[in-house]
Amino acid sequence: MQRRRWILRLEILTGITLVLVVWSATNAKTSAPISAAASADPPSRTVTPAATLILYPVWTRKYLCESNAYYAGNPQAGKTIRFQTPIEVNPNRVPHVLEAMQNYEAMTEGLITFRIVDSDPAVGLVFVEGDALDRDAKPGCGRVTSERDPQSGFAFSATSDGVIHSRLYVHLGSVACDPAREGFQRSSIAEHELAHALGLGSHFPGFTGIEGISLESLVTLTALYRVPPGTPVSEMCEGNPIYYWLAPPM
Ligand SMILES: [Zn+2]
Repeated sequence: MQRRRWILRLEILTGITLVLVVWSATNAKTSAPISAAASADPPSRTVTPAATLILYPVWTRKYLCESNAYYAGNPQAGKTIRFQTPIEVNPNRVPHVLEAMQNYEAMTEGLITFRIVDSDPAVGLVFVEGDALDRDAKPGCGRVTSERDPQSGFAFSATSDGVIHSRLYVHLGSVACDPAREGFQRSSIAEHELAHALGLGSHFPGFTGIEGISLESLVTLTALYRVPPGTPVSEMCEGNPIYYWLAPPM
């Protein structure tokens, strides 16, 4: 009798202990922040053009401002302008153009793409071999112009929503220059002129002439094509602290 009562007490004690253990475990589960977060809906993030551009280094935003948004040949100063992709291109069998295009497609992982056409597109690029002129109008290595005449100037025309609707001519090589031998690699001059045509109007460090696809030109072009055409960037270009808090303006 005495023994049975003792066993009964033991059972009651075990029961109380079990209840306490379960209660504390449940309590810990509901109060621990990591479990609370897991049970809630994940926070949604709005990816605006500004939120995209802020992820890029300060120098990218600076080059994007200078070489595209505020390039003298941009008819809508303060807004980005670029082609819609895929961009129609008539390579005209000019050597190493296909290689340069493939390099851009591969290195931007399909962000910048081209469609090869046999005739000159209404909007897009036409390569011309052998009549490139330097700035001083002497035979040169490469030049982008708005008209087929290699002496015509270079400016973009764009719709009000920032889409380039020009047919641009990319002249490669002349009696004074074999582009395949002049650049760092055989497609480098073609890549450089292609970068101009894609929207980088002016040179900047790392985008100077014979280096072909460089980190600086590639990242700046990637930023340009990652955001919609016509993205207003005047605040960014004027050094707005929101855009420059990560590092001081260059
Ligand atoms: Zn150039």
